[in-house]
Amino acid sequence: MAILVCGGAGYIGSHVVAALIEQHEEIVVIDRMAVGRQYAVLGGKLYNGDLNDRVMLDKIFKENEIEAVIHLSASSLVGESMTQPLEYYRNNVEGTLRLLEAMHKHCVDNIVFSSTAAVYGDPERIPIREDDRKIPRNTYGETKLAIERMLHWVEQAHGIKYVILRYFNVAGAHDNGLIGEDHDPETHLIPLAIQAALGQRENIMIFGDDYSTKDGSCIRDYVHVMDVAEAHLLAVNSLRNGGRSGVYNLGNSEGFTVKEVIETVKKVTGLAFPVQIASRRQGDPAVLIASPELIKDELNWSPKRSSLEKMVASAWEWHRTHPNGYAKGNEETWQKESQS
Ligand code: UDP
Repeated sequence: MAILVCGGAGYIGSHVVAALIEQHEEIVVIDRMAVGRQYAVLGGKLYNGDLNDRVMLDKIFKENEIEAVIHLSASSLVGESMTQPLEYYRNNVEGTLRLLEAMHKHCVDNIVFSSTAAVYGDPERIPIREDDRKIPRNTYGETKLAIERMLHWVEQAHGIKYVILRYFNVAGAHDNGLIGEDHDPETHLIPLAIQAALGQRENIMIFGDDYSTKDGSCIRDYVHVMDVAEAHLLAVNSLRNGGRSGVYNLGNSEGFTVKEVIETVKKVTGLAFPVQIASRRQGDPAVLIASPELIKDELNWSPKRSSLEKMVASAWEWHRTHPNGYAKGNEETWQKESQS
């Protein structure tokens, strides 16, 4: 029996695939390779395709004996979601609809779904609990919330059980040195600051230093990608063992300001780089910190890499050794690395 990983060639998906390999699972990956990278997939059978493609999905479910789905496929750039909302509804909501139709048709009734802290919008309190108010401030968060609601009703009617994981700020890279974060365009704070340290960009900009936080910059809750991958294993195992559906925050309950993160990047890399204050980024809440108590209690999740310095060091190791990510031209290096 195999686990189908949708979006398994992406940053988080590739770490989930690596964790499944360690658990000796049979893995099938579908990724449309828009942002996914072939060399990030360390094992399993890879289908290059889109979730909106019914024929392809049907083929995958016919050719493989799928017992559970881990669904990480999504368009996930907040800014882009505001200018291309229809594209986000099509990719995220319609893609998931097609996936659920295929699961229903082929009697697959377990799904782990990647959601986001963006479903909360401006939180009503900190730390955020799962039942707190959800008013997304952007189309991206809205599409994820729509899917969460879809899962709820589909379970009622068709018995498809789900675990929803609401990610906070995922960072770091795998200890094996083979996979890490490689977005194009890159929009996330830690990799951007590391690019500035490497001289690949002129500076790093702080989006707003006039928030009512201790140093005026935004506070976020960072969580290591390997701890995130581990949560997916716990979730899929729970569903397979008859566990019930659930919705969980995935964060460390500790917040760091943008300025603290930048200082940590300087300290870890030992490199100086220019920092500029810029205006606030539209749609950014001042503070996002998770309460992860529920996933700790119910799924026994215990993050092992929660120190910011270790997370930055792990990201730094990846970027230092792969300054061009999985960029074309690296093929030989990849073949050598994955054979060793
Ligand atoms: N940020 C920043 N400069 C950058 C990129 C991000 O100041 O070049 C800030 C951003 O405003 C947010 C925090 O860093 O407060 C984390 O942003 P990121 O895009 O990494 O993740 P998000 O919180 O949007 O998921």
